[in-house]
This record gives sequence, C-alpha cells and structure tokens, in this order.
Amino acid sequence: MRRVTVFGATGSVGAQALDLIGRATDEYEVVALTGASNIEALAREAIRLRASLAVTADEGRLGDLRDALAGSGVEAAAGRAALLEAADRPADWTLSGIVGAAGLEPGLRALRHGGTLALANKESLVCAGPLMRAEAARHGATILPVDSEHSAIFQALVGEDPAAIEKVTITASGGGLRDWPLDALADAMPEQAGTHPNWDMGQRITIDSASMFNKAMELIEAHALFDLPADRIATVIHPQSIVHALVQFADGGIIAHMGAPDMRHAIGYALHWPDRRPLPVERIDLARIGRLDFHEPDPDRYPAIALAYRVIARGGLAGAAFNAAKEAALDLFMARDIRFTDMARVVESVMDAMDPRLEAAGITLDMVHDIDAQAREVARGTIGGHPWT
Ligand code: NAD
Ligand code: MG
Repeated sequence: MRRVTVFGATGSVGAQALDLIGRATDEYEVVALTGASNIEALAREAIRLRASLAVTADEGRLGDLRDALAGSGVEAAAGRAALLEAADRPADWTLSGIVGAAGLEPGLRALRHGGTLALANKESLVCAGPLMRAEAARHGATILPVDSEHSAIFQALVGEDPAAIEKVTITASGGGLRDWPLDALADAMPEQAGTHPNWDMGQRITIDSASMFNKAMELIEAHALFDLPADRIATVIHPQSIVHALVQFADGGIIAHMGAPDMRHAIGYALHWPDRRPLPVERIDLARIGRLDFHEPDPDRYPAIALAYRVIARGGLAGAAFNAAKEAALDLFMARDIRFTDMARVVESVMDAMDPRLEAAGITLDMVHDIDAQAREVARGTIGGHPWT
C-alpha cells in the first residue's frame, strides 16, 4: 500500500487527484487530506477514501469538521499548525495542491520524508525554487511537476541529456479574454476573466490565465525546475491547448507533448511515475481537431510575460515579491478595487519599489515570508490614492 497525502484536496487539482486515487482504493492508504472552507467536500472525501486525518486550514471550522466526521473514525484537525503536522506524517506520495504561497511550507515539510512531492503549487517554485530544490536534495526526495506544461517538459526529457536542450517552449491558451479588443480589457469583470476556453480550473488560476500571469509564473517555474536560463525558455500562444510543451534539442529536433486538456494526465503521470498506467482521459483525434495554431503573445496584451523575464534575471527574492504582488493584485481585482489591466501595473510598481530589497545570495523561508508580507503591503499601498483609475 502506498501512503498518500493530498494538500488542497477540495480544490480543482486535489479533486482530480482523489478521482484517480479513488479508482484504486486497494492500492493506497490515505494519510491526510486537507482543505479550507469547503468542510462538506473535505469530510465526504476523507470518509470515502478512509483517510486517517482531515485538516481544514480554517481554525474556526474545527467544530464543523468534527461534526461532519462524527462516527467515521477520521481524525479532525484545524489551523496552520495542524496543516504542517499533517505534512510531517510520513507519506510516500504527497500532492501539493494548495493555491498560493500558503502551499510553500507544507510542501517543504513534506519533502523531509524523502518520498515524492507531486507539485501543483507552482507558487512554491516561483517564491523559493532554490529552497525547494535544496530541501529535496537534502532528503533524497523527488519533485515531480503537476502543471501540464512542466509535466510535458519532464516527459519529453526522459532519457535525454539536459545539456542538449536548446530551448523549451511552454504553450499558453491565451485565456478567456484572448479575443477581446485590447482597449476593452480594462473593463473586464472578474467573472468574465474567470471563464476559461479549454481548462476547468480554480478561480484564481483561471483569471491568471486571462492576464497570462499564470504563464509568467510558469516561465519562472520552468527556470526553477529545469535549471534553464531565461533565453532558453519561451512561450507561444496555442489556442487549442493540445500541445502542452515543446523541447528543442541541439540537433534541431523537437519533442512535443500532446494530450487532451485534462489535468488528470499530469496528476496521473506523477502518481504512477516512473510507470505509465492507463488514465481516464480523452484520447485526442488529430484528424478531427484538424489544425493546431501557434502565435507570439502580444506584449501589450500580456505585460506579465516581460515581468517574468525580469524576475528570472533578477533572481534572489524577486520571485517571492513577484508572486506576493501578483496574489495581492488578484485579490484587489477580485474585490473590484482595481481593473483587470491594473494588475500588471500594480505588480510592476511593487517590483520597482522593492528592487533594492530583492538581492540575496541564498534564500531562507523567513526571508521569503518577510518579502511576501512586504510586497503585499506595497501592492495594497499602490491603490491608496487610486492612481490607476
Ligand atoms: P483551487 O482554488 O481549486 O483549490 C485550492 C485548494 O487549496 C483548496 O483545497 C483550498 O481549500 C486550499 N486552500 C486555499 N487557501 C488555502 C490556505 N490558505 N491554506 C491551506 N489550504 C488552502 O485551486 P486549483 O485550481 O486546484 O490550483 C491549486 C494549485 O495548482 C495552484 O497552485 C495552481 O496554480 C496549480 N495548478 C492548477 C491547475 C488546475 O487545472 N486547476 C493546473 C496547473 C496548476
Ligand atoms: Mg499550466
């Protein structure tokens, strides 16, 4: 029996992981499932999969969780400390599916078991890539990417010499507003930006897809995971989301990874790695799809991309500031305090204001937390006098 833990079990990625685990319950012992506000889903899944422990990040919901689990034998816990305690329980495979920088510490703690960390929480790599990699190396743990593009790169690199990589390209759908006229973007409402043409994902990453802040994060993620310099990482708009990434080698050959836009592929690959097992994902029919399109992202429409290259070039704590500023800008947009197009301006202002503070030869968790808090404050401060609206 493989011991598995799922952080963010009630989210989009977490639920899809539980769908796969639930199809072979005799193979898995579920150590812990964690969630936040959706107590009903957390308790239902913990009972269905006979988890030992269910944790809600929301301290005030412990009573509700206990009630929902009454008589089931599943232990209930709540709060940040309980989340970290869940990460300390040994597991062979842990999925990090929390959204945001809140996922960093549980992931770091889980790496201490030396097992496999299936990493959907890209924010951990953006904020603290070198720290995650060092912790994995120290404990002999394996980080497997659970982002469709990075899983695709990982798969294209099996058996290849990393030194022979010439360029890695991750594809982008262009998001829910890709066909809007440029001058209409400022008026996009959160519910319009929160609709995706190809992928069914959580609300925050869906809006990040529309702004391409998600792709910006993924460029930094690719840099952190595969040790690639900025000039070897690119993105291209591919509206069909069938090709997830392309790796070009020194001989000019390109290995592209294709598949239906279904996260159960990347999750399932990480779950069964190094084996490949049948997965309940749609098989693509290229003749029916007919054509695959690719084009350059317009820098005026997607200013987040240039910011990502700036973060990679800056190094140090730039990723931590960038991620926190992006999270704060997204909060402001979702609260309707700023416009869609203001998000990139807020992030850029934070990067400008904090630049002298981002220098760091080696980063620690405390440094990341500190810069994260500062960046959120600076981001909120940028709208004090409503300079954008
Ligand atoms: P989601 O919003 O659907 O789910 C987030 C999960 O995190 C929920 O279980 C929620 O309870 C939990 N959570 C939220 N705030 C928390 C906190 N402060 N502390 C502890 N737990 C908290 O998000 P999602 O779309 O599943 O994305 C999860 C992660 O995976 C993100 O980092 C995202 O970028 C990444 N990702 C998602 C997809 C996708 O298809 N959804 C694809 C690639 C990568
Ligand atoms: Mg992705």
